[in-house]
This record gives sequence, C-alpha cells and structure tokens, in this order.
Amino acid sequence: MNVYIETYGCQMNVNDSEVVLSILEKAGYRSCGTLDQADLILINTCSVRDNAEQRVLGRLDVFRQEKKRRGGVVVGVLGCMAQRMKEKLLDNPAVDFVAGPDAYRDVPRLVAAVAVEGKQINTLLSHEETYADVTPVRMDREGVSAFISIMRGCNNVCSYCIVPFVRGAERSRDPQSIVREAAGLIAAGYKEINLLGQNVDSYDWRDPEDPARRVTFADLLERVAELNPRVRVRFATSHPKDIGDAVLFAMARHANICRHIHFPVQSGSDVMLEKMRRKYTRAHYLQQVARIREILPDCAITTDVIAGFSGETDADHADTMSLFRAVRYDSAFMFQYSERPGTLASRHYPDDVPLAVKTARLNEIIALQNEISLEINRECVGRTYEVLIEGPSKRSAAELMGRTSQNKTCVFPAEGHKAGEYVTVRVLSCTSATLRCEIVG
Ligand code: SF4
Repeated sequence: MNVYIETYGCQMNVNDSEVVLSILEKAGYRSCGTLDQADLILINTCSVRDNAEQRVLGRLDVFRQEKKRRGGVVVGVLGCMAQRMKEKLLDNPAVDFVAGPDAYRDVPRLVAAVAVEGKQINTLLSHEETYADVTPVRMDREGVSAFISIMRGCNNVCSYCIVPFVRGAERSRDPQSIVREAAGLIAAGYKEINLLGQNVDSYDWRDPEDPARRVTFADLLERVAELNPRVRVRFATSHPKDIGDAVLFAMARHANICRHIHFPVQSGSDVMLEKMRRKYTRAHYLQQVARIREILPDCAITTDVIAGFSGETDADHADTMSLFRAVRYDSAFMFQYSERPGTLASRHYPDDVPLAVKTARLNEIIALQNEISLEINRECVGRTYEVLIEGPSKRSAAELMGRTSQNKTCVFPAEGHKAGEYVTVRVLSCTSATLRCEIVG
C-alpha cells in the first residue's frame, strides 16, 4: 500500500506528517511522492487562518476526482482542521476518515475500518501523547535540516488563536527521547536541528518518579547543542512573557545555537495585547528585546503581527508602527486579522475593523518592515558569514541557497559545492529578503 501525504501550515505540522509516515511504515505502508500512485491519500491541515482551510477544501475536490478515476483509494484528513471541524468533514464526499493531532497512532486502524464499516473519526485529545517513541520518517530529502517536536499543545489561550482548542493542553516530551532523536539525525548526516513547540520557553519536563528532577528549555537546548558543535541548533517559538535569561545565556555559551529568536509581538498596543490575552505589555516586550540584544548582540529578531484585531483604533495601529521602528526586526510574518470560529475572540469580540482598513494597516506595516529589512541587510554588505547550504536557489540550478546563523537567506554561485556543506560567503548586494554573495572560503 502506497501513502501520499500533503502538509499545510507550520513546521510542527511537517513534523507531525513525518510521525504519521513512521506509524504507517511500521504498519506496512510505503511513502510515495505522487497522488496517482497512492492507495492512501492524507492531507495534514492547518486552521490558523481561513485561507489555509479554503486551500484544503480545494485539494479535497482534487482528491475526490482521483477517487472517481481509480476505485479503492482512501482519503484521510489529519491535523488542526480535522480537530476543529470533526464530523462536519465527513460530509465531504472525498473524506473517508478524520484524525486529530493526538490520534495518529490510530490511523492504520482507521484506514482498515473504512473498508469494513465506512467513514471513521478519532478526534480525542490526550493529556499524555507526545509521540516520544516514534522516530519520524524525514521528508527532507536533502538531509540538511530536521525538525523535532519537543512539546505539544499550548496552555496560553491567546484570544485570537485556535491552537489550544485543536492541539489541546501543553505536554513536554521526555528529554532523553529528544536527545536520542537528535543524535540519530546527526549520525544520519543532518547538519541542523530545529526544536519546535508552540511556546518552547514553557517546556518543563518532570521525572514522573521524582518530580523535583526537572529539565527546562535552557537545559534541553544545551544538551542538544553539546551533541556536536558543528551541528546547528535552532528553535521556535519563543514567548515574550516566558523567555528568560537562562535561554539567552545558553545561546551565548554555544556558538552552534543559531543567533535568531522568533519573538511574536502581535501588536504594539497595550490595549490590543490585553484583549489578545498575550499576558505582557509593550514595555515588558521592549525590555525583553533589550535583554536579547545585551546578551546576544549579533542575534536577529523576527516577529509575527496581526493588523486589525477587534476594536483596533488608529492609535493602536500607530503603536504597532512605532514598536516596529523601535525594535527594527530583521523580518516579520505580517497578517490581517482573520476571525477563527471557536476562539475566545470569536465569542467575545466582534471582528469590527473594516476589511479595507485592515488591509491598509497591514500594507503600512509591510512597507515599513521592508524598508527596515533592506536597511539591516545593507549593513551586511561587505561582511562575511558562515552559511549552511540547503540546496539549489529557487531561480537557478547554477546557484545555491543557504542561511546564516541569523537565518538570513544567502544566494551564491554553486562552484561545485552542495547541500549540507558550510561555506564562508561575502555579501555583495542585497534585497530586503536576500543577500547575494560570493564564496570566499
Ligand atoms: S502562545 Fe498564544 S498564539 Fe501561540 S499557540 Fe499558544 S495560544 Fe496560540
């Protein structure tokens, strides 16, 4: 039986797809790269924004055609959208089964049951499941950069966010299983390990037999970094209310922990932050940024921001703009607010900023950020950086793409080098998104 899987959304979803493939391979399935060879088609979904869900519904239409063309194909919907929509998804004629993020061990049984009993669903959330004993099947064929989930779920319940409802309560994974997985990846030739969690700073593992014995995120980060000083370690996502000096000092002690912190602010207005239930103020956020810059002067900082959240005024928007000017992010993921059914905001706060206003504010933030990114990148021109090559550049097979420790994208002539190598490059020119370089060593 061949299984084909498509993944939407964040890197945690990519890692979940790798977990599902591992579970299915143990049950006798083989992963295939194309839809038309698949006996089992899976789509791992994201619910964070409405357009992500619309894309999935579009793909289900394509899968329905494929089922019509070839009999006997089973289609399953996994992930956050499966958890949010539950039985409603079974009304879609393309869908044979639905499995939520904590039900992946059950996928082989669900597939088998479809043939006997028809449509199936398992969307039970768990307080314990971390898939700690499942070694994910890596989909990164270049074998350069791998992702490890260190925890699942989130306890924060930011008012706009669907994640706590679809991924359940926070659980930290056994650190020994994480370190073992990282060591296995390094032995297999991976050069970069990405530790993933919705809020890595709240990672807190306690020994079930001796709860006084705990491992924090800073401890875990150091344990992984110490496996091999030539293997890079990255992590995401940090939370401004939880990040502490211990993590920053752990980074400072290890040159192979990349100098990049993704630090989602969401808004520069205290009124909005309160309404979003982010549990920090603008002043606290700026203090944390100052602390990062004090301990790690060469650390890039990136962010997420939402334009046009419920009740956002021109003054709130101006606060976001001024915060962007104050922090000077290296780059940002910028979105206009999209109300998600089931969130606290959808129940308590009207989505009352007109679309045209949201779009105009978002465009202003994007224009400002592009300007800042370009200014920061211009400061890199003439400097040299160590870059880990990830593969060919998007535009030309004669060029390679790699990243600096600060997560900046560099493009340079291949000159016989290949993915997985470290090279030293000098920056020749830049755009707001890319550094054009030459290899100097
Ligand atoms: S920290 Fe907030 S935004 Fe991030 S996953 Fe948790 S609830 Fe969602």
